[in-house]
Amino acid sequence: MCSVGGPVDVDIEDRIKTKNCQCKDCGGSFKGIGKKIRCPTCGSDNICEL
Ligand SMILES: [Zn+2]
Repeated sequence: MCSVGGPVDVDIEDRIKTKNCQCKDCGGSFKGIGKKIRCPTCGSDNICEL
């Protein structure tokens, strides 16, 4: 085992930046990933970040 100095505290949800988003069209909330976020329910890109 080789020890690496520093915190090994990398979380997957932290590496992939997820944002809490809400669709303005259907009102559903979901976690969006990436820059172009679309609603998984209705496919709208009319999204606001929470
Ligand atoms: Zn929607």
